[in-house]
Amino acid sequence: MQEPSEGVTPEDLNSLRLGKVKKSAAGIPAAISSLNHGIRKMGVSKTIKTLLMVNQKDGFDCPGCAWPDPKHRTSFEFCENGAKAVADEAMKDRVNPNFFKRYDVQTLLKKSDYWLNKQGRISHPMILKPGSSNYVPIQWEEAFDLISESIKSMDQPERGVYYTSGRTSNEAAFLYQALVRSLGTNNLPDCSNMCHESSGKALVSTIGIGKGTVHLEDFNKSDLILVVGQNPGTNHPRMLTALRDAKRNGSKIVNINPLPETGLSRFKHPQEYMEMDLTSTQLSDMHLQVKIGGDAALFQGVIKHLLDTNSYDTTFIEEHTIYFEQLISHMKNFSWDQVIQDSGISKKQIIEFAEMCASSTATIACWAMGLTQHRNGVSVIQEVVNLLLLGGHIGREGAGVCPVRGHSNVQGDRTVGIWEAPSEIFLESMEKGLGFDLPKEHGYDVVESIYAMEKGIVDVFICMGGNFLSATPDTRRTAKAIQNIGLTVQISTKLNRSHLITGKSALILPVLGRTEIDIQNSKKQFVTVENSMGVVHRSEGKLKPTSSSLRSEPSIVAELGKRLAPEKLPWNTLSQDYDTIRDLMSNSLSGFENYNERVRHDNGFLLPNPPRDKLEFDTPSGKAAFSMNPLPDVSVKSNEYVLMTMRSHDQYNTTIYGLHDRYRGIHGNRRVVLMNSLDMAENGLKTRDMVHLSSSFEGTLRQSNNWIVVAYDIPKGNMAAYFPEANELVPLDSVAEKSNTPTSKWIVVSLSKTSDVFEEE
Ligand code: SF4
Repeated sequence: MQEPSEGVTPEDLNSLRLGKVKKSAAGIPAAISSLNHGIRKMGVSKTIKTLLMVNQKDGFDCPGCAWPDPKHRTSFEFCENGAKAVADEAMKDRVNPNFFKRYDVQTLLKKSDYWLNKQGRISHPMILKPGSSNYVPIQWEEAFDLISESIKSMDQPERGVYYTSGRTSNEAAFLYQALVRSLGTNNLPDCSNMCHESSGKALVSTIGIGKGTVHLEDFNKSDLILVVGQNPGTNHPRMLTALRDAKRNGSKIVNINPLPETGLSRFKHPQEYMEMDLTSTQLSDMHLQVKIGGDAALFQGVIKHLLDTNSYDTTFIEEHTIYFEQLISHMKNFSWDQVIQDSGISKKQIIEFAEMCASSTATIACWAMGLTQHRNGVSVIQEVVNLLLLGGHIGREGAGVCPVRGHSNVQGDRTVGIWEAPSEIFLESMEKGLGFDLPKEHGYDVVESIYAMEKGIVDVFICMGGNFLSATPDTRRTAKAIQNIGLTVQISTKLNRSHLITGKSALILPVLGRTEIDIQNSKKQFVTVENSMGVVHRSEGKLKPTSSSLRSEPSIVAELGKRLAPEKLPWNTLSQDYDTIRDLMSNSLSGFENYNERVRHDNGFLLPNPPRDKLEFDTPSGKAAFSMNPLPDVSVKSNEYVLMTMRSHDQYNTTIYGLHDRYRGIHGNRRVVLMNSLDMAENGLKTRDMVHLSSSFEGTLRQSNNWIVVAYDIPKGNMAAYFPEANELVPLDSVAEKSNTPTSKWIVVSLSKTSDVFEEE
């Protein structure tokens, strides 16, 4: 049985350089870093050419996050991490058959995720045969035959699991779900299961749609913006431009986060230097440094104050909501002591914040993983909705909910059918368009897929992009489960750890990237994506493919369709001209009418959003619903701490671009754990001491060794560490109620000291 990694990689022994926490985000350092990554990976001319095409109307969509593009683009319509994402995909280096001859799987397992990623683009289809230690080349046709024979030999369709990462285009995702459902299963887990699933569940139950209700332009019309459990400076950097503009229009910004993230303190837009504007913008007016897991208590405190001071929009509540009376009686059990204890925020600060909410006429609430990846991920987001409903901040200009997606098309994939638990209405409409019956029984989400692998009831596992092993919790347990599978297939651009922990046999299928020209039937094709605000727009690759052996996502799915379900759809026609896929989508999905015509408009088109567009709520009552939730138990034992995983500024999801978490001043090493200095003193620890961490959950124990302690401004009792390294501490069984999302932001750990000290250079 292969271990996912040796736990400590060469880079972990790198020198750790600690600098000051940055006071201002972006600016010249971001421009330098963007160029640096570009030139190092693509060379000078390709860097200029490529960065001038990203997020442009006739260019390609950034493969980074899902922050929307403004209607009026600037020439440099990207952020530092967008530049890194593009450079990472368009890099010159190759992982070709010789590479795999040189490195066997065992050797590669000892390498860090950073090292694996920087080896380059995978150039040829490769196979790892049972019992062998090196990948060898395979012809595409052979690979497709092996996959289809393996699927055909399954005695039940449920023994196949088909994962999707949020980079997959709408067209590929639609064909993929059609193929999988034609095989008779809804086993369509996706990365959304691990990120905004809690948002979807909370919003559908309260306002009847699992998406945000704001436009980008609303940021300029708001007077209060809440940024909760989100670090936009690193994960959605162009959002800082929207926050700057909102500030300039008089909006106030409240940052709610256990960590004082640089991106929410000051911002300097690099392009302002070109206008000789040397000033930077103070962003957040208030930072509420809530304890990990204390957000629900904080929001209940605010709601309590608004109810007590009758600071709510009676007209909106009467006309558009239900359960207001129930909320009032529910809040009767309210305890200020518990709220202050659990949130770590003083009553004075809570009331000050509540007064800002009371005087707001247009509030936007933005959030990310800091809310969704908790046991109470769904109910805490319902508290946020409660707060907005009290003020009537839904379906109003400058107001609304804004879950910010971290993956460029994760929302689009769900919209077009990548969903293990589709509604009947959704399937009925899809059946009409596709013309064949679809399975109704819900399939496995990510966590359930791993349980099925563990039980040995998964024969074939296909991943459309992503890095399943590193993105999922309980790394060692998940690695063991994956190795029970017969055949694993990774459809990938870059090398990662999921290529090294595999089924009995494994395939790597190298796919065209978002930046690359996609020619089918001698005609250039474009694909489409949906951003966090429900805008569907086109993306057309512009760069010569990194290898002539690459295939597009839609053509890979079509080749399998031709072998597995030839009678279901005209797979060849569909993969030869993506307009035909979009026509099929027009007939199968509500909101995609005249898809081909509308998506050719300069800025694409907006999908319908009843709460935003016409204050209509697709809920059982037809009204927006207040929610009544008990506060979660956030107490831990005296020798325990609550750890949250996080990204560094030099990574995107599980892709490690570099070892410089510039804003936090942490350089050269990622195996660090941020601790409160009082907690360190109580344990006789100082910065650079090394500790072991262990997490126990329902009688199961996980050990993770050799973490370097770094004193940091984090609430007492809380810790933070980077993923994917810390994912081995996240219990697979610890999930959010209702959404089944792993609780990567709530991990109860204890530490043991080692005598080691990570010496200064
Ligand atoms: S904000 Fe997101 S989508 Fe925009 S350039 Fe940056 S990473 Fe890409």
